[in-house]
Amino acid sequence: MNFDYIIIGAGVIGSSTAYYLKKALPEKRILLIDRNRTAGAGNTAKSAALYRNFFSSRTNRMLAASSIRYYIELGGKIGLDPIGYLWLFSEEQWKNSQKSIRQLDMKKDEFEVLDRAGIANILRINFQSKNPFADVHAGIYCHLCGSLSAMALARHYASEFVSLGGEVSFDTDIRSFILTGQISSYAPWEDVHIDTVMDQKGNSYYAANYVIATGAWTHDLLAPVGIASGILPKKRQLFALKIDEHAQLIEHPGKAPAIILPAGGVYIKPILERNILIVGSADDLGQPFMMSDPEPDPRYFHNAIEPVLNHYFPQLAGYNLSLKWAGYYDYHWPDMTPVIESVANITWIGGTSGSGIMKADAIGRIAAAGLQGHKEAFLADGARFEISKLSLRDRDVEKEELII
Ligand SMILES: Cc1cc2nc3c(=O)[nH]c(=O)nc-3n(C[C@H](O)[C@H](O)[C@H](O)COP(=O)(O)OP(=O)(O)OC[C@H]3O[C@@H](n4cnc5c(N)ncnc54)[C@H](O)[C@@H]3O)c2cc1C
Repeated sequence: MNFDYIIIGAGVIGSSTAYYLKKALPEKRILLIDRNRTAGAGNTAKSAALYRNFFSSRTNRMLAASSIRYYIELGGKIGLDPIGYLWLFSEEQWKNSQKSIRQLDMKKDEFEVLDRAGIANILRINFQSKNPFADVHAGIYCHLCGSLSAMALARHYASEFVSLGGEVSFDTDIRSFILTGQISSYAPWEDVHIDTVMDQKGNSYYAANYVIATGAWTHDLLAPVGIASGILPKKRQLFALKIDEHAQLIEHPGKAPAIILPAGGVYIKPILERNILIVGSADDLGQPFMMSDPEPDPRYFHNAIEPVLNHYFPQLAGYNLSLKWAGYYDYHWPDMTPVIESVANITWIGGTSGSGIMKADAIGRIAAAGLQGHKEAFLADGARFEISKLSLRDRDVEKEELII
């Protein structure tokens, strides 16, 4: 099987890249491969699928804002629900975040600063601090933020790709890369590149160019062939609480925004129409940068999340977990911003650092433009983006401070 491009990984990133590449190069043979049975069944399916344009880094704001523009066009097709986002700060966090907040274009990006009275108008929350939990001092409400169906988004890109003549191979687990030359003894002047990739059944797939969009699995796939991808996996867990209507979270009837609490990186995705709260947190030291036990651990909920929830929302005490799951972020830890880099005929796209759903449209457009040899990409909102900014060699991005 001979292709111009083989894209390994049909998550939201690989599917978006495949779509924009095929759209630009309709005559090229492009194959999208995944070990799962359908697009988006990896960490895309595990995500909380929240989107926000609220980032401290200008680059991340560009990637997210332009992607959101495209998602709003897709609307109900991807289950877009613009519930908003309420990021809460303690007094100390608020002081320390002023530099990042000043960089935001409040009006254009539809951010609103809320004081305690403004927050109390939305949430029934405990504002007081009690060691070790900080007070609630201020909030930023993001109007252009919300939630969507990440699976529907990945499937949208994959099905558009197929409708343009793109080819897919699911249930295909790429186990090895065969390089030209003898890996242990090749001479430095030889042209070493990937000749073919082989799946679990021993089938070989040939292409002129290979694109690795394997998210959290990228390091394990590329390290054996001598590539330091800069992308490392870290386990992340989500827990669903079944609440009842009396557990009133919000002041007025209607939808509640996604909430980021000022302690422990705990966040809440409320689905009040189904009486469900999805909660997560971002532990750091102690959670290894590697593929670890993929099972969610209820002790983590009880030790790290529940106390925070119960402090800020005492009315939630006593509710049981109805569901729990775990996945992996694919971190580019130095700046928490995506990576698109190439060596020989291999390009890898990843490092989405916990916000790949909300940036997938921009990342796909940028990767596809780079694969065609362009220097710039055009994003959904018309912004131009210099592709090399996301490379490892010529990287030019700001460090992201607002990561959960
Ligand atoms: C708990 C959790 C919550 C999150 N919440 C959010 C959120 O609210 N908003 C947001 O924007 N992001 C969120 N994310 C991050 C988001 O899920 C990722 O950034 C995004 O899914 C990355 O997409 P991807 O396509 O790179 O990875 P994936 O979706 O994991 O796709 C990679 C694909 O590669 C395939 N693959 C891997 N190795 C091979 C191989 N050898 N052969 C064949 N196929 C292979 C896998 O099967 C997989 O389908 C969250 C992540 C987690 C874990």
